[in-house]
This record gives sequence, structure tokens and C-alpha cells, in this order.
Amino acid sequence: MSKKIDIIKHELFAIIGNCGDELNMSTFVIGGWVRDSILKHKKNEIEFDIVSDGDGILLAKKVAKRLKLNKISIFKTFGTASLNYKDIKLEFNGARKESYHHSSRNPKVEKGSIKDDQKRRDFTINAMAISLNKKNYGEFFDPFNGLKDLKQKLIRTPLEPTKTYSDDPLRMMRAIRFATTLEFKIESSSFNAIKENKNRLSIIKQERITEELNKIILSNKPSTGFDLLSKTGLLKIFFPELDLLHGTETINGMTHKDNFYHTLKVLDNVSQKSSSLWLRWSALLHDIAKPNTKRFNKKTGWTFHGHEHLGSKMVYHIFKRLKLPLNEHMKYVQKLVLLHLRPIALSKENVTDSGIRRLLFDAKNDIDDLMLLCNADITSKNDYKVKKYKKNLEIVSKKLVDLEKRDNIRNWQPPINGSVIMKQLKLQGGKSNPDDGKKIAVIKEKIKDAILDGKIKNEFKEAEELMYQIAKELGINY
Ligand code: ATP
Ligand code: MG
Repeated sequence: MSKKIDIIKHELFAIIGNCGDELNMSTFVIGGWVRDSILKHKKNEIEFDIVSDGDGILLAKKVAKRLKLNKISIFKTFGTASLNYKDIKLEFNGARKESYHHSSRNPKVEKGSIKDDQKRRDFTINAMAISLNKKNYGEFFDPFNGLKDLKQKLIRTPLEPTKTYSDDPLRMMRAIRFATTLEFKIESSSFNAIKENKNRLSIIKQERITEELNKIILSNKPSTGFDLLSKTGLLKIFFPELDLLHGTETINGMTHKDNFYHTLKVLDNVSQKSSSLWLRWSALLHDIAKPNTKRFNKKTGWTFHGHEHLGSKMVYHIFKRLKLPLNEHMKYVQKLVLLHLRPIALSKENVTDSGIRRLLFDAKNDIDDLMLLCNADITSKNDYKVKKYKKNLEIVSKKLVDLEKRDNIRNWQPPINGSVIMKQLKLQGGKSNPDDGKKIAVIKEKIKDAILDGKIKNEFKEAEELMYQIAKELGINY
């Protein structure tokens, strides 16, 4: 039974349908756009997946010509082509039938009907198609009841789940990604099939896994996805460090918290305030070294001393393995993991100007993100503790603003640089003069400390005076 669907108002659809008519091809819009339009989800990037029961590349060429577009990307081996029209991406595919070999997620492909093409789709909600041809414009083709699953918020596969996931194991990641971003449930036979096939993930390129992982992290409530990844056993396969955060232990009646669920709470808290992928990654990794640093002390109970240092070191290895970029984004995550205890530690003492200046100096422009992470890190169930910590952090925040106005430490540049020191004190830098090099480093460090401790102002004159004084102490003849 088919029916008309009335979401198909975009000017492009009639044009594409018309081109299909001229080539005598049945032409449909299918997949993500259909799903999101029915759900009334607005996206930043619009993508139309077009499928026709003929040569998709030929149709793409005709549409490009009609729209006066010069640029067309053709992928001959896959029989696909893509175009960009204004801010819309158009993907063209010829309808196809697929069969898989055990060792690869890339199928053997043959020409097929629209029905065959719908069968090869990952989920029922991604297999719905709408006709664009004139004779049945707007007719809705939904052979697997995707509409019903949309209403019931269910992720279900068109064909038998075990085969679907085993054929292309990336679909396991996609199932969890859609369950998280759409806030749907994975139907139980699908869920069990994922558990059964989890080891098949090994044939998937890490880049593809990470792409889905990042989409989970960028959702409104990423914890849902990580919980599912953990419960299906997938997490252990590609991210064992995170899985190790699970569990509690009790000695002498003292129990530490479950760091997996704590981490997920922190991640959700951060996600409510910021859409930055890298700040969210910092939340995910902030306690990553807790299992490796866990100790029990008879007097003070559980400790995780140094987990921020070790955690910060682990960031590189995790990023490298997960094929995340090893660039300034990674350095930012390393920095936030390393500093994540500092604002709270600072607030436990008498909050001194010098402590605040040092924090600002170390965090620089990432101080606001660090404070956000710190606030998100307060997940205690004890209301009294939560209030106290939040209040302390507020005091730190206020002082940060105050001091920033006076000192401008955030964009700190040393008022005296190495070449000025060399010139004024007649020192030689370079490899041939390691002694002088050491002296220059000592002078720089002492000037920095004096500024951060508030002993001198952050300006040239006072720094110069101090430089001469240190020079005397070091016995430099200038
Ligand atoms: P979004 O673009 O929002 O991530 P989407 O559903 O458009 O979601 P795409 O990755 O753009 O996802 O894929 C487009 C369509 O291609 C999907 O809707 C689905 O029908 C099909 N598809 C994508 N990947 C697979 C896969 N691994 N197995 C089967 N079908 C897939
Ligand atoms: Mg898409």
C-alpha cells in the first residue's frame, strides 16, 4: 500500500524528477532527508540522497546541466555522483543489489530495483523513499514500515539483523549513533545481534568508527551512546581505556565512585553548555588515568594521585590510535586534562592573586573552557558538597575576571625577551655557549615568577630592573 506524502516541496525535487522522466528512470529521494523531514529535524547541512533505477551518474549529469552547475564529482567504481547546489549537497546513486564477502564491508554490487536498493539500507527509518517522477510525484515507498518505527522511536534493520551487522559492521556504530542523536531505542533483536557481532568491528577502518563516535559525542546527550557502546561490548574493542573506568571497589567500608558513569555525567554536563567537540573530548578523557593511579590509603581512603598528569600523557596515544588529529586540538585536550583539578585545588586554599595568575598563565585563552569543565566535574550526590564546591569555583571565577582586567596575563608575552637579555647583558646564545644559554633561561624564569607572584608589574621597566639585579647575583659582567 502506498500513499502520498506532503513534505516534498523543494524546488529541486521537481527538476530532478523531470530529468528522471526524460531519461525514463524512476527517481526517488531516499534516506536521511526523508527521515529528518518527517521528524521535522532541521539540519545545518542539507543532503539529498537520490536513487534511480538506471545510471545515477547519467542522471546527475543531466541535473547538473539543467541547474547550470559546472562542478560534478563522479565516483565511477561506485556508480555515484555528487553535486553542490547553493547550500545543498546532492548525492546520486543507481539502484543496486548488494552481496557481501566475509572479509570486507565493501559489497559486490549489481544493478537492481528500488526495492533491492531499499533492502540494502541499514535501518528501516533510512529506507523510506519518495517518488519524484511526474506520474506519481510524492508517492511514498516504505516497504519495511519505517514510518511506524519512526513513530515508535525504534532502530530496526530491514533484513535479518545478524546478517545486516555482520555484512557491514559499521552499521553497529551507526545504530548506536542514530539511537543517541535521535533519542531512539535499538530494537532488542538488533541489540542482541550487535552484541553477537561485536568482534566484526575489526574489519572497519578506524576513521569510520571515529567519525560515528564524534557524532555521538556531538549529540545532545552523549552518555546514551557510550552506555550503549559499553553494554554491547563495542567500547572495549576500540576504546578499552574508557571501558576500564567501570566499577567501584570497597575497602574498610570506603567505596570510590564509578568513574565510568561519573565521566558520562561530566560529558553530559559539558554538552549542555557547549557544542565544542574538543571540550567534550576533554570531559571524556579528564579522569582516564584513574584506574592506573588508584591507591588505597588506610587513613584517607581512595586516592588517584597524578591522574591528571598521566591522563594528559595518555591523550596522545588515544588520539593516535583513534586517528584523531594530532594537532592543536589534541594539545588543547592535553592541557585541559592536565589542568582539570587546578581551579578546585586553588579554591580549597586561601585564593591568592599569585595562584590565580599562575592558573591564568597556564590556561591562557582556554581558561573559560577549563572553568566550564571544572563546574561540570562536580557530580557529587551530596548537595552540601555540591553547593560548597560551586561557590568556591565562583570565587575563583570572580577573581579571574578581576585580575585579568588588571594584569592581562591571559595573553601574556614576556616583557623582556631573550634577544634583549643577550644584548643588554652581552651574553652569547646558541650551542657554542651553553653556559650563557642557561643564564638566559634562569633570568627569563625569574622574571616570569616575579610577575606571576605580583612582585613586579607586567611591564618592561620593572622587568629590566630585575634583569640587572639577577645579572649581578649571577656574577655576569656586562
Ligand atoms: P546523516 O547524514 O544525518 O548522518 P543519513 O541517514 O543521511 O544521516 P548517510 O551516511 O548520509 O546517513 O547515508 C545516507 C543513506 O545511505 C542512509 O540514510 C542509509 O539509507 C544509507 N546508508 C548509509 N550508510 C549505510 C550503511 N553502512 N549500510 C547501509 N545503508 C547505509
Ligand atoms: Mg546524510
